[in-house]
Amino acid sequence: MSRKISFKAEVGKLLDIVINSIYSERQIFLRELISNASDACDKLHYVRLMNPELSKSSGEMKIKIIPNIEEKTLTIEDNGIGMNKDDLINHLGTIAKSGTAEFVKNMKDNGSATDLIGQFGVGFYSAFMVAEKVEVVTKKAGEEQAYKWTSNGVGGFEIEETERESNGTSIKLFLKEDAKEFLDGIYLRQIIRLYSDHIDYPIVLDLGKAGEETVNTGSALWAKNKAEITEDQYKEFYHHISKNFDDPWLKLHFKAEGNIEYTGLLFVPSEQPYDLFQPDKKQGLKLYVNKVFISDKVEELLPTYLRFVKGVIDSADLSLNISREMLQQSPLIAKIKQGTVSRLLKELKKRSENAEDYKKFWEAFGAAFKEGIYEDLTNREEVAELSRFVSTADAEKLTSLDDYISRMSAEQKAIYYITGDDVKTLMNNPQLEAFKAKNIEVLLLTDPIDEFWPQVLTNYKGKAIKHISQADEDLKVERTEPKAEEGSLDKLIKFMAETLKEEVGKVESTDKLTKSPVSLTVENGQMSIHLERLMRNHQQQTAFASTRILEINPYHPLIIKLSEMIHDDGQKSKIEEISKLLLDQAKIAEGETVTNPAFYTEKMGEYILKAI
Ligand code: ADP
Repeated sequence: MSRKISFKAEVGKLLDIVINSIYSERQIFLRELISNASDACDKLHYVRLMNPELSKSSGEMKIKIIPNIEEKTLTIEDNGIGMNKDDLINHLGTIAKSGTAEFVKNMKDNGSATDLIGQFGVGFYSAFMVAEKVEVVTKKAGEEQAYKWTSNGVGGFEIEETERESNGTSIKLFLKEDAKEFLDGIYLRQIIRLYSDHIDYPIVLDLGKAGEETVNTGSALWAKNKAEITEDQYKEFYHHISKNFDDPWLKLHFKAEGNIEYTGLLFVPSEQPYDLFQPDKKQGLKLYVNKVFISDKVEELLPTYLRFVKGVIDSADLSLNISREMLQQSPLIAKIKQGTVSRLLKELKKRSENAEDYKKFWEAFGAAFKEGIYEDLTNREEVAELSRFVSTADAEKLTSLDDYISRMSAEQKAIYYITGDDVKTLMNNPQLEAFKAKNIEVLLLTDPIDEFWPQVLTNYKGKAIKHISQADEDLKVERTEPKAEEGSLDKLIKFMAETLKEEVGKVESTDKLTKSPVSLTVENGQMSIHLERLMRNHQQQTAFASTRILEINPYHPLIIKLSEMIHDDGQKSKIEEISKLLLDQAKIAEGETVTNPAFYTEKMGEYILKAI
């Protein structure tokens, strides 16, 4: 009994590319299938720990590679968790997961599929680079029925019931005419050593009459002596555990000794994963107890701001049957986390001495890392010290807070920042004019988290950190140019406040503007305009909006002129119109949209026409 099931559209597209690609390193299919087999063994291991009834032994876990020269097939077999019918449909008919999903996303963005195959791997589907037909026979641990999944990679697949002695999966590849080299034992041995030597289960090459041979050395890489590990082995290991295919930017291999002993082998990727900011994405490290796999993605081992770190922690001091729930409360785990974080920060500090190298890290992960200033009470100052920012000193370069401080003049009281959507708009924000005039550097912050960390890090190495709106002391600018007359200015302010009362809570005169006639800000201590906009974009209806303040520049010729006109009742409707246009201008400079685009463009057109 079998029926044809179609592949989900994305799988179809992917397979089309895989089948037709002339990718020269197609031997990576073996790495992908062995990696899946190893994951399947890991999963069974974990399930058994949680559920001893499943411990009915199916023998030592291992992965078998069986070339069959007569049949022209290559089989990859494991005695891991196996799949039931639903698993087969969900996992081998759709793209649900990690590496493969990333491949498809990049394929859409970039085009050149062959490069991407090497970069990401395409998981199970890479089998179709070498096989014209794939047959998967599998039985899930703890279940009775086995299934056979068959596909030639075009259109769809068939599933039928079948027999299989014990749990696990056999993937039989009917090799394409031009892929016969994958029947050669010597060649297979070479590829397995190259890509999969670190796999923790024996990989057994079954050469029929010539016998069986375990090909990989298999000892858990992290448990080995550093001196015995080559860079290539580290790299392959990173690829295996992270399912990434970039080179790691940082590798940290350490042994902690003392009250609690553990080993860590951690990596920071060099490229930002596409899902770094997907909150529901499970992150975390692999946990082993004395080389026995316990759990994948243990989030308790690292704080969320370090969620991009990949790797394993192994401690013989933990109990073998520690459950997910216990992980959350375990003081040992908390200790390991603390120690691991401080090692990572120390390592980052070392790497930060090379600004150019560190910039690569910062551009990929800085926006996540900075969350640590907010989140990590213990290491707040270290995280701040390791953070980098764009500032008005040089928008092309990154600066640290320490560098900023070294450039501060003796009179400058605080470190100043402004928040907004992008550096360019911020650079031209009227609120910065006085800072420019007084040569005071300002940090230009554009990440969502930048709205939050300055609320908790109000001081750094003895210097206050302040939003530019709180800069009064530092900003006394000597003004000598003509100014609007006091009484008229008051009258104008009253009139503008009345005209714009729907949109701004206050109109105020300020000394801080040197070029612009007006600027928009909020009452001290209220939510910034940028944060309001972020919340709005995320459909987080803000319960209250901050009170907007329209600041006006009494030295600006336009304001001087308006304050003269204010005494002439015949000009009231004109002043009203100009007030609205000025508010629109202030909004644009803030990165907001104008109140009424039709009004704005029509009036601007009129004024421009008059001017020419
Ligand atoms: P990825 O490995 O990136 O998740 P794959 O396309 O390689 O993507 O595999 C898809 C899914 O199919 C796996 O996540 C796993 O659930 C299942 N799978 C693949 N191979 C096996 C296997 N040998 N045993 C059990 N499950 C497997």
